[in-house]
Amino acid sequence: MANAAFQNEELNTFKHGVHPLENKGATSFRAIERVPFVKEYVMPLSQHIGAPSVPIVSTGQEVLRGERIADPGGFVSTTLHSPVTGRVTSLGPRLHANGKMMPAITIEADPYASQRAQPQERPDPAKLDNRAFAKQLQDAGLVGLGGAAFPSHVKVQIPEGKKIEYVVINGVECEPYLTCDDRLMVERPEAVIRGTRLLMDNTGARKAFIGIEANKPDAVEALRALAPGEIVISPLQVKYPQGAEKMLIKALLGLEVPSGGLPLDLDVLTNNVGTTAAIADWFDLGIPLIERVVTVTGPGIPHPRNLLVPLGTPLSALIEYCGGLRKETKQLIMGGPMMGMTQKSLDVPVMKGTSGLLALTRVFQVDIQEYPCIKCGRCLESCPMFLNPTRLAHLAKMKVVDKLADYNLMDCFECASCSYTCPSNIPLVQWIRIGKVMAREAQNKK
Ligand code: SF4
Ligand code: SF4
Repeated sequence: MANAAFQNEELNTFKHGVHPLENKGATSFRAIERVPFVKEYVMPLSQHIGAPSVPIVSTGQEVLRGERIADPGGFVSTTLHSPVTGRVTSLGPRLHANGKMMPAITIEADPYASQRAQPQERPDPAKLDNRAFAKQLQDAGLVGLGGAAFPSHVKVQIPEGKKIEYVVINGVECEPYLTCDDRLMVERPEAVIRGTRLLMDNTGARKAFIGIEANKPDAVEALRALAPGEIVISPLQVKYPQGAEKMLIKALLGLEVPSGGLPLDLDVLTNNVGTTAAIADWFDLGIPLIERVVTVTGPGIPHPRNLLVPLGTPLSALIEYCGGLRKETKQLIMGGPMMGMTQKSLDVPVMKGTSGLLALTRVFQVDIQEYPCIKCGRCLESCPMFLNPTRLAHLAKMKVVDKLADYNLMDCFECASCSYTCPSNIPLVQWIRIGKVMAREAQNKK
């Protein structure tokens, strides 16, 4: 039915991959709602890939919503801003989504504040060279909002001797259940187009492609109504993991990012659709990254919703707003079911990379009966990187670490397609992750 909207168009995709049940119907038509402000916000210093941010506030200090509270801790690191007007109550460790106690800035919200963010000063983007533009993205605290949380300024900065021909905007949202990007494209298409235009103008790209799976016809229509000719809105076949940047580039441009290479090697810059809208918000409104859209859904949630959530909000507040947790709930996942992180506590805060909160009534992919490998080859056929998952998992299990590189272990980006498709329920991706840890340890020893 989704593809009926595009029956006269050729829908491209990448090779291999899997087709998990989409399960997006509970929230795909639900407009984004702002979640009410709560008493306390926790901002972990590590909510992006790279070095942790460094606090510039002290305990007891009053802060305004949108005020800078931590500086980047290095080049691959970014800024943090207060999600609320209130008072810093602690700089100590708090529970992180990774299950560990990690350094964080805790802020008590001022119950009498209006909680309107004060627009910040920002320069005219037309006057910025590539370095200065990238620095602005770092100042705005922008990271990939699709889940990876890679600092945006690092991606945007073009190294000496390189160029960008194409900007690729990722509106694929191929993880089951999640609809936050879909709703953003439907409700704020002007911000997505504006952010795309800003990226094109600054990098000198001559064309942009916004890739959207064909199960989001409203998003395609909303963007097509606004997009100029040089920004192409491309509906794609529905297949997981098309949202991985290498797969998306293959689907849109037919180009292969080489093993160990980057999109930049093909003169391509990729960016998530939410991040793209956030770039527009920074340059046009002066609002840094202090909130994001989160899909709260799954059979364990009575009233699934897409919520606009200040960063640092505890997961418990999202659950409460969506009617509490059904007693049948067996597993809570931050993100989507394929690549998300299982959560043990509702005290964990929403972070920059939190795209969803999923409450499942049966455990997904783990703790299920495992059987011997029947050599069916399905894991090979599903792997979008053309790896041999069963071989990699076997080598990791047997601790044959020196052979893992021969099978391109590090090309695996842990999409879990192999585990999902395995009829013997072998936790292939978990073994591959263990293999990566062992390989890194062996490398460090050397
Ligand atoms: S081996 Fe890695 S990249 Fe290939 S399907 Fe498995 S998890 Fe995905
Ligand atoms: S999918 Fe599972 S059973 Fe089939 S070859 Fe791969 S590991 Fe073996």
